[in-house]
Amino acid sequence: MNNAKNSDQSTLASLQSDDVFEALDTRKGGLSAEEIQEKREMFGFNKIDEPEGESVFIQFIRHFISLMAVLLWVGGTVAFFFTDTPQLGIAIWLVNVINGLFSFFQESKASKATDALKKMLSSYARVVRNNSEQQILTEELVPGDVLMVEEGDKIAADARLISSNDLQVNQSALTGESNPVRRNELPISPEDLSSFEYKNMIFAGTTVSSGSGTAVVTKTAMNTEFGKIAKLTQSLGDEKSPLQKDLDKLTKQISIIAISVGVLFFLAAILFVEQPVAQAFVFSLGMIVAFIPEGLLPTVTLSLAMAVQRMAKEHALVKKLSSVEALGSTSVICSDKTGTLTQNEMTVNHVWLPTQEFEVTGLGYAPEGEIQADGTSIDANNHADLKLILSAAALCSNARILPPNEENPRYTVLGDPTEACLGVAAEKAGLVPEAIESQAMRLRELPFDSTRKRMSTIHQLTKPLDGAKKIAYAKGAPKETVDLCTTIRVDGKVIPLDEEQRISIMEANDQYARQGLRVLAIAYRDLSKAENLPRAMSEYTPELIEQDMVFIGLVVMADPPREEVAAAVEKCREADIRIIMITGDYGLTAESIAKRIGIVKGEHPRVITGTELEKMTDESLKEALSDEVIFARVAPDQKYRVVVNLQELGNVVAVTGDGVNDAPALKKADIGVAMGITGTDVAKESADMILTDDNFSSIVRAVEEGRAVYDNIQKFLLYIFNSNMSEAVPSAAFLLSRGMIPLPLTIMQILAIDLGTDLIPALGLGTELPEPTVMQRPPRPKHATLLNRKILIKAFLWYGIIASAIAMGAYFYVNLIHGNAFANLADSGLIYRQATTMTLGAIIFCQIGAAFNSRTETQSVFSIGLFSNKLINNGIIFEVFLLIILAYVPLFHGLFNTAPLAMLDWIFLILCPIPVVGLEEARKYYIRHKNKKEAA
Ligand code: ATP
Repeated sequence: MNNAKNSDQSTLASLQSDDVFEALDTRKGGLSAEEIQEKREMFGFNKIDEPEGESVFIQFIRHFISLMAVLLWVGGTVAFFFTDTPQLGIAIWLVNVINGLFSFFQESKASKATDALKKMLSSYARVVRNNSEQQILTEELVPGDVLMVEEGDKIAADARLISSNDLQVNQSALTGESNPVRRNELPISPEDLSSFEYKNMIFAGTTVSSGSGTAVVTKTAMNTEFGKIAKLTQSLGDEKSPLQKDLDKLTKQISIIAISVGVLFFLAAILFVEQPVAQAFVFSLGMIVAFIPEGLLPTVTLSLAMAVQRMAKEHALVKKLSSVEALGSTSVICSDKTGTLTQNEMTVNHVWLPTQEFEVTGLGYAPEGEIQADGTSIDANNHADLKLILSAAALCSNARILPPNEENPRYTVLGDPTEACLGVAAEKAGLVPEAIESQAMRLRELPFDSTRKRMSTIHQLTKPLDGAKKIAYAKGAPKETVDLCTTIRVDGKVIPLDEEQRISIMEANDQYARQGLRVLAIAYRDLSKAENLPRAMSEYTPELIEQDMVFIGLVVMADPPREEVAAAVEKCREADIRIIMITGDYGLTAESIAKRIGIVKGEHPRVITGTELEKMTDESLKEALSDEVIFARVAPDQKYRVVVNLQELGNVVAVTGDGVNDAPALKKADIGVAMGITGTDVAKESADMILTDDNFSSIVRAVEEGRAVYDNIQKFLLYIFNSNMSEAVPSAAFLLSRGMIPLPLTIMQILAIDLGTDLIPALGLGTELPEPTVMQRPPRPKHATLLNRKILIKAFLWYGIIASAIAMGAYFYVNLIHGNAFANLADSGLIYRQATTMTLGAIIFCQIGAAFNSRTETQSVFSIGLFSNKLINNGIIFEVFLLIILAYVPLFHGLFNTAPLAMLDWIFLILCPIPVVGLEEARKYYIRHKNKKEAA
């Protein structure tokens, strides 16, 4: 294959761009399907090999060497060798194995969920293949592909440029140099240069800072420079989140408490009831197991992963699990306007010329409608200035409109909607796009950038305009474009632009903007007369071209707010989350839209422009941020300052962005949100979350999920701590009575609860859906801890005491039925076993009530449907099933100290959850009432 022969980068760099095609065995129209297939077989997929992670075996083993697992191994060994109950040892080992398997499968389920998400995050490249432009997955690129790159793209393979427009590339990923470098297609002499210095090559792993270009792929996958030097580590899912780290710490702290309790019980067992050392050790082990929150970490990971999956369905792709927590505590969302709060479906509805205003009818991108002046239809072919403004606007655009087809019944846009609607308006005015283009061949483009807020294109005219053969058309934000103009075209004549005219242009602009409309100014410059321009057009810069221009008029377009946004904004208001609009658009347009969707409520909110922002001190900015404020006409890099100041005020900030210059703000924010449709690769890479529908409402739903995850982990903690008290009290009763009360709950029974019956309902709590009230309270304070006093008091002193009383009640109840003396129990015969089975059963049934109780914080659990969580329901069925097996299968009677129960006993047990749920419902009712009163 030629490819191998000529793929030496230095040879390619020295060729004329036309010769590059031949050298790489390709052509301008791209590769054919067979050639792609051939090259795929030869070079494989364009993927960087990922470093191998932990092997499944190691992952598996980890679950059997955790602190608790080791304790159980030791405990089992002691019981097996040193007590007269070796079967107890075997049982402890068995429980340990089952528990290890359970957490292993839980963890692998979570990692499968994150793997699925990784796939969704794949990126695309634009190529020419088989003579047509198409979008493909970057991993499908092969050497010889004709690759098109533009601002914000992440370059996916090494490639040799064949054309460029003001192309600048950031190579910091490869060279560490963070300033962008210029690149073009001109041949070079590669001697003494390292390949990164070749001005006509672009490299995988680097990004396009500005401009655009077309290049032929030279190397892919591990053959690229990036592949050679980089050990790409994808962080998704690998890194422990702050929450997980917190939990690690928490687990350790609780383990220390658990071991201290264990030591206390061990000593008490020896001193108070004179148990042999081995027996006392096994006994205290029960306490330790009861207190260690086993299953906590995998449950947290799983509930995060499941929330992330739910968010993906709601159009929010979270790149790291840790972002979910930050989302939950978000207190400010800084949002763009165009496309995020609005539909980004532009329709031109007015054209303004200095002496005449036109209306444009029709909606959307279908070229159905017309241009009217005072109600009369106008053909632009009969109106020179109208024709000029519409054709200049259409020519200074890159978007294409695709007519309806089988897949899509509507007209659709390829490219920027702001540009697409301009072509549609021209068609409505009777102009034919192909005809306009053929009369004005495009020579060069000075691409749009949101700091300049305009773009220009240079054309060769076949029919000169007032003698101009080479012309530059510019379109952009009115203020930024009018500032470039020195003259104005009025009824076909070019006259100097005076102050009065400038004022009247801006007045017209303001009038449209107040209605929430978006306005672009259109201008041109005769370049045939321009002096001091460089010879090579590749050296034209915006500064050289965009000056001394002729103002033509304004094109006005509507971009209606997204329908669902007003409700999402209202939700944020209830949830005490502030929304700050930061837009590149004009202040009055921004204000009008902000008012319409409810972001600002005041009549005269403060609007700060980019220029004002630049002059403000941090103190005055902070002051402004404490009130309703809109940022308009700002450059994306100014977002960074707003984010920093909001964070310094103690906020957790989410910020949206789509362009290259948004990257610093996206990185700095607690949650960087990139647009999936309009966003560049650079923005997506810097962000923590990607909105696949670019829709603001999706952020709000993600915040809701984020809050719910945190709640769920707390619900889980509450539930597992619940049973601790009722597990500890029976042993305490045994010890404190110096053995007078025979042990009401044996170690195997504690293990059966902690490592058996409690597991599935606990996991179920991790999957609870957001409570309906989750967005009716303020964001969680930044430094709030997961395990707080409220949970501990609720678990130990409220549920714990209720459940302990019931459990001990159940134990003594058996005694009461069979006479009055403890002697009945102490003989460790049938009655004793029945009594301990009742303690076990009562704790299990109280935990059933506790599972329901833990599902809501203050709401009645009945209001969300008592049985609406399937996993909890299944867990309850499993619990009861396990209890039946332990009580009725003789094999377990000896091991678990159990015995069959009587009918009346079952009735007792089934009634247990009633006081547990009833008392908690009463408490919740009281809290709700109190809150309502306080709110009133
Ligand atoms: P937001 O920042 O809310 O997304 P935006 O699209 O108005 O809104 P930018 O993309 O930064 O923000 O654009 C800034 C301004 O530049 C716009 O308000 C508009 O006046 C002008 N503009 C936008 N797109 C183009 C374009 N393709 N060509 C020329 N000018 C444009």
